[in-house]
Amino acid sequence: MFWADKIAKEIIDSGEYVPYWVDDMKTPSGRVHVGALRGVVVHDLVYKALKSKGKKAKFTYVFEDHDPMDDIPSYLPREKFEKYLGMPLFKIPSPVEGYENYARFYAGEFQKVFRAIGCEPEIIWTKDLYTSGRMNDLIKEVLDKAAEVRKIYEELYDKKIPENWYPFQLYCPACGKVSTTQVLDWDGENVTYECVVDKVPWAKGCGVKGKTSPFSSSSGIVGKLPWKIEWACKWKVIGVTIEGAGKDHMSAGGSHDLASLISQRIINYPIPYPIAYEWLLIGGRKMSSSRGVGISAKDMLEILPPELIRFLMVRIKVNTQINFDPSQKDTIPSLFDDYQKAYLDYKKNPKSDMGRIFELSQIREIEKPPMDARFWNLTQWVQMPNMKDDIKKEGLEEWAKYARVWVERFAPEDQKFIVQKELPEAVKHLSNEQKKFLAELSKIIGEYKNPEEFQTKIYDLGKDIGLKSWQAFEAIYKALLGKHHGPKAAWLILSLDKEFVKQRFEEASK
Ligand SMILES: [Zn+2]
Repeated sequence: MFWADKIAKEIIDSGEYVPYWVDDMKTPSGRVHVGALRGVVVHDLVYKALKSKGKKAKFTYVFEDHDPMDDIPSYLPREKFEKYLGMPLFKIPSPVEGYENYARFYAGEFQKVFRAIGCEPEIIWTKDLYTSGRMNDLIKEVLDKAAEVRKIYEELYDKKIPENWYPFQLYCPACGKVSTTQVLDWDGENVTYECVVDKVPWAKGCGVKGKTSPFSSSSGIVGKLPWKIEWACKWKVIGVTIEGAGKDHMSAGGSHDLASLISQRIINYPIPYPIAYEWLLIGGRKMSSSRGVGISAKDMLEILPPELIRFLMVRIKVNTQINFDPSQKDTIPSLFDDYQKAYLDYKKNPKSDMGRIFELSQIREIEKPPMDARFWNLTQWVQMPNMKDDIKKEGLEEWAKYARVWVERFAPEDQKFIVQKELPEAVKHLSNEQKKFLAELSKIIGEYKNPEEFQTKIYDLGKDIGLKSWQAFEAIYKALLGKHHGPKAAWLILSLDKEFVKQRFEEASK
């Protein structure tokens, strides 16, 4: 059984996770790395698997726009953003004009990508959760039970938590920072706080002390719960029953364990069905959003069609690492090959695992891949100037776009074929038989229109002159491309101007 169907079955069979509410979350602290897409797709698949079993389900995605900026991404001007370190992301201006704030800009960019690959969760902003007042009862409960919360931390992390530590992070009323404040007391209505000058090394507090209410309202958000506690409170406020996270959060003693204990012992809410998923690595490395290295989710749309981005993640079991390395010669072409094979499996038996994988890789309706030929061929056709019309006629323009990107960005040198404007140096090394072959070939250029027939003719011509087939084709490639190999010769020749080829072969045969 396909892995997401198995998870859905387990959820349904247990009878514990009703109503089915799938949720995922992300702090939009910068350009979102492609790895974060895996979380969205994993949740989307479980949601869709539940729906295909006839169940009603909901799928939400929480953007934590109220989290502080704790690092400045390398692609942003430090001098412009330094003053915002420690402030909540929704209070920081967008790096690009026309967007409400920093968080909205980066969340929007990420959202565009996951929508493009067919994930349509309902979006929730944490700031709104707080200003709606829905978090207030839980904030009070958590603060009232601060002693028990401390005990949970001590139990899990095996360290002493000071008695004047309270599980709440106030937004400093004076400087607006949240990373610098410390709550020192709670009297049931107000918290006593200090904005500590040197609390964190990357931002300075303003030193203000005071007493204020921790409850947010429609007039604004005044603070937040520490995120592991907030995670549990968010489950309860939204009504989440199914939520996974990357394996780092789900490991023993990790943040999910803490959230679970808060859920059970402090706020009395059943732990959502957990799904631990493995990394999606790019070239063997895990990348962070704020460092801005590697491939961002947005870049991914430029190198693969949406259905292939989904396929990359759908076909691999949730607990298995994916290492996507587009710079490896075969990575992208093989992904296309596998996708086309999956379609054939789907046609044979849509209920087979591969059939189901193909089905769930679709963005909306089931779409047959636009071609039967391999992607490798397309990468050659896009390099032949006169194939443009054929590509259009065959309906391959969409995939041709990605073939071009592959050639430009990832193709090894030996896969790049450029028809040389001048007679290449390489023809100097042609044998006399090869020259004779080119001279003969130049005489029949224009006589064949059908590439298969023409290819056979080229073979025969070489054989008649006493050449091995590779020697014949090498002569063609050297004359046109300056290389000893290339795309299928007949197709290449037919894609070019007749007179040009004729003349080139004559020149090369001298
Ligand atoms: Zn302050």
